Amino acid sequence: MPPLSRPGKIVCVGRNYREHARELGNEVPAEPLLFLKPPSSVIGEGDAIVLPGVSTQVEHEAEIGVVIGARLRDADEDEARRAVRAIVALNDVTARDLQRRDGQWTRAKGFDSFCPIGEAGDAVPELDAITVVGRVNGEERQRGSSADMVFPIPMLLAYISRIMTLEPGDVVATGTPAGVGPLREGDRVEVEVVGVSRVSNPVRLER
Ligand code: ZN
Repeated sequence: MPPLSRPGKIVCVGRNYREHARELGNEVPAEPLLFLKPPSSVIGEGDAIVLPGVSTQVEHEAEIGVVIGARLRDADEDEARRAVRAIVALNDVTARDLQRRDGQWTRAKGFDSFCPIGEAGDAVPELDAITVVGRVNGEERQRGSSADMVFPIPMLLAYISRIMTLEPGDVVATGTPAGVGPLREGDRVEVEVVGVSRVSNPVRLER
């Protein structure tokens, strides 16, 4: 199971690594770019990512997930640091073609199975020195560090808490480093937060 048998809301951050923004032809935003994934998109270790028939370009996004452990509202960065319950591996699976076509991202990011989340480790690592790696069929495709984020984790949590209250059990997906790419039937995709959490999932077509 994911760390949360009934996850709360999943707040995601777009374009939080400069090289990833560049690879998709986007500017780095002046403020964090937020969107939501539905809790119904969450799957756990070994569950299949299902490619929907309406998309021809589903991609992996390896991310550092932050599990919230205390209510945060109008928080400062120190409060935000203290409210982190766990760090988890998270895959922000995205139908890139639908993301482009729709103009907003609810459908592209929201299909069932589009949010694999790994189990939490015992301890919360230093938030400014976390490494995330994405692999497809054992081959490394993405590698990033929280040290390279445009908006660091405590700043993100504080920023989000000024818009919506973060509740225990909510998850924040902190953006993906460069190297996103397509998933095909039969692939196995893995996201690892080094030394902390990992999640590995097979990929299959909708039937
Ligand atoms: Zn993402």
